[in-house]
Amino acid sequence: MNSEFKVLEKDERSYLVAEPFEKLGVINGFSRRLGGVSSGKISGLNFGFRVGDDSDAVLENYRLLAEDLGFDIRRGVCARQMHTDNIRIVTENDCGKGIFQQESDIRDTDGLITNQRGIALIIFSADCVPLLFYDPIKQVVAASHAGWRGTVKQIGGKTVRLMKEKFGSDPKDIIAAIGPSIGKCCFEVDRDTASLFDEKYCVSKPNGKFHVDLWSVNRDNLVSEGLEPINIYISDECTICNSDKYYSYRVHKEKTGRQVAVIALP
Ligand SMILES: [Zn+2]
Repeated sequence: MNSEFKVLEKDERSYLVAEPFEKLGVINGFSRRLGGVSSGKISGLNFGFRVGDDSDAVLENYRLLAEDLGFDIRRGVCARQMHTDNIRIVTENDCGKGIFQQESDIRDTDGLITNQRGIALIIFSADCVPLLFYDPIKQVVAASHAGWRGTVKQIGGKTVRLMKEKFGSDPKDIIAAIGPSIGKCCFEVDRDTASLFDEKYCVSKPNGKFHVDLWSVNRDNLVSEGLEPINIYISDECTICNSDKYYSYRVHKEKTGRQVAVIALP
């Protein structure tokens, strides 16, 4: 794990917190599976309402999340993620979507941005790469979901571009965190999928498959949009290698829940 991240423990639950955000007062965290009130096959701290879990248990997990990280759960916002590169500017009118109104009307959306204080942007993942952003000058936060499809579509870079367009962010000021997700150690794909990435990110394996480094692809995408490499923090935590601590789609298959990445202006 990267030393710029710390583990926050609350009872049996634990989160990775990016210290560069926290030092500037920004509420943030990447949840782990441990603890939580979901039971059965997806036991733990599950945030997916659509994975066969009991809704009351999921709601209680959200309440615990908000209490643990220090935000108002009524102001949490989730999208219906679909591996797109669509990004939404979130306002007060969106608060509670995807949580209290379990069907979020923010559909086909994989990135959220806001400059409103206290609105918690929440992105789901279970191996996919969660990205969090903060511009301390313009006071804007963002979160995006970059599975391999979203990574190919450069959703990270597009999030930065929208922060620039809508809020006047200078990418040189933006701090970014790349959260727990599938690492190059474990992201094995066939030639067709590997061919979607520059070959410098791919390593061929004796079994004819390829391993792709999604963390580096995302980092370089952000650098190409103007972020300073020193301002991009990679957690270095692979959800497959640590599938005891995280929900992993590849390991647990259809029995997996969802963890979340959260960011909010204080
Ligand atoms: Zn791994």
